[in-house]
Amino acid sequence: MQRKTLSMLVAAALAGVSMAAAAGPVTDEMILNDAKSTGDVLTFGMGTNGQRYSTLSKINTGNVKKLVPAWAFQFGGEKQRGQESQPVIHDGKIFVTASYSRMYAVDAKTGKELWQYDHRLPEGIMPCCDVVNRGAALYDNLVIFGTLDAQLVALDQNTGKVVWKEKIDEFSAGYSYTAAPLVVKGLVITGVSGGEFGIVGRLDARDAKTGKIVWTRPVVEGHMGYLNGKENGITGETNASWPGDTWKTGGSSTWLGATYDAKTNLVYVGTGNPAPWNSHTRPGDNLYSCSTVAINPDTGKIVWHYQNTPNDGWDYDGVNEFVTFDMKGADGKTVRAGGKADRNGFFFVNDAESGKLLNAFPFVDKVTWASKIDLESGRPVYDDANRPGNPGADKQGKTVFSAPSFLGGKNQQQIAYSPDTGLFYVPANEWGMDIWNEPISYKKGAAFLGAGFNIKPLFEDYIGALRAFDPKTGKKVWEVKNNAPLWGGAMTTKGGLVFYGTPEGHLKALDAKSGKELWSFQTGSGVVAPPVSWEQDGEQYIAVVSGWGGAVPLWGGDVAKRVNYLNQGGALWVFKLAN
Ligand code: CA
Ligand code: CA
Repeated sequence: MQRKTLSMLVAAALAGVSMAAAAGPVTDEMILNDAKSTGDVLTFGMGTNGQRYSTLSKINTGNVKKLVPAWAFQFGGEKQRGQESQPVIHDGKIFVTASYSRMYAVDAKTGKELWQYDHRLPEGIMPCCDVVNRGAALYDNLVIFGTLDAQLVALDQNTGKVVWKEKIDEFSAGYSYTAAPLVVKGLVITGVSGGEFGIVGRLDARDAKTGKIVWTRPVVEGHMGYLNGKENGITGETNASWPGDTWKTGGSSTWLGATYDAKTNLVYVGTGNPAPWNSHTRPGDNLYSCSTVAINPDTGKIVWHYQNTPNDGWDYDGVNEFVTFDMKGADGKTVRAGGKADRNGFFFVNDAESGKLLNAFPFVDKVTWASKIDLESGRPVYDDANRPGNPGADKQGKTVFSAPSFLGGKNQQQIAYSPDTGLFYVPANEWGMDIWNEPISYKKGAAFLGAGFNIKPLFEDYIGALRAFDPKTGKKVWEVKNNAPLWGGAMTTKGGLVFYGTPEGHLKALDAKSGKELWSFQTGSGVVAPPVSWEQDGEQYIAVVSGWGGAVPLWGGDVAKRVNYLNQGGALWVFKLAN
């Protein structure tokens, strides 16, 4: 594989200036320049660092009310269910994935289908949280996505024909795949889903052109990493934070994928719950579960980690995206930092180079498991009375009421960051749960929780709230409440706008400074996916996938009952300004 040095890539990216769109094969330079190139959306996150910020301003606070549908594309079939996909766009084509591991290529201007790929799924797949897929990666002439039976498939962008296909892991052991892959320096980087089945979380890096494995890095302490077929050092130190054999089925799934910052040359991956949920079976911090883990893509080694929830007992998966940005410190110096709205209800700001905790503040109103995050030690101050009780050998442990619920202050719905306002836009949810522990032992391919639960709303009038936060002060600048829990990501633009969707079916545009609603459109089914924007032939477009589903209807308990009137669907909507 041809490797280029980081400085060459960064120089190319910086020199890329306002390249509208490059045709032909997708290169490393184009991927690193994606946040600036307005004619394409080459990456999940609209840039590898996941800011979801468009430099386009043709659609802006002054004219967004004139936004109208350009076309809509229906996924069709009987396979509706949750549609959590972010489209990627290149060379006049939109590539969008759908439920049940499907992919479509559509003409970006007209909405005409170019091809469809239906992955053949075996009986017995075990996705925990609906049959979703969050999107594809582009590289060379390929469009690459992962499937519910834990395979990685690379298709020809022009024909939809399979170029290569590789098995990520055994679906019968509980592995699946739902995230959008990340491409860094010719490597396609993927995680795994399956934290509810006692799998072992990791990142894999493959040659994006061939699918051949280059490195693998487990994120459960004690497991061996590999580079080019050779041992590449154990992650951490065996038994340092896990007792006995518990690390062998330690979970820590990497189900929401990763981000990459060319300035630090680090891949950031969030890790899920330690397995099982019953924390009394595994005293210790259980590294590197519920953490942000920074990995050097050249070496496949961990450079730093920061654990958001040590010894998690609430399924507070720390998979949430780590979004890097420039933050000015009190001394006037700019720090490369990363923001993460964690499932545990706290927003964390870490130094992106070193992992040092710079700030942490709650982004939801009710947090019961910890009173605060201590900025000196970097650790939560636990409220021990609010940890679900130890069940002992054969009985149920003490039930506690915990907030957030295990579906999180934030779940898969992505945050956005605007360098214009300096604010993070967080689709948050206010809910709690009754949770208790039960005895559990590991059995391959079976749910490995040792816990029971029921999710409950906290307030009569709303669960969701889109909130704007200043990462430096932790100040909530504005919020817009939503009756149903928010499950779709946010996007912000140079035009001073924030776009996001609701389960009630609306795509909305707000003023990024004030939160004032300026535009809304009913898409016909719930929106649980992030919008994107690009330009073609001088016009700016907005696209979002619509189709209610995901984890809430399946796991939401009393909340699921409250929103059981919402209808499923499956469509890609594209908007532009009326002429
Ligand atoms: Ca771009
Ligand atoms: Ca989990």
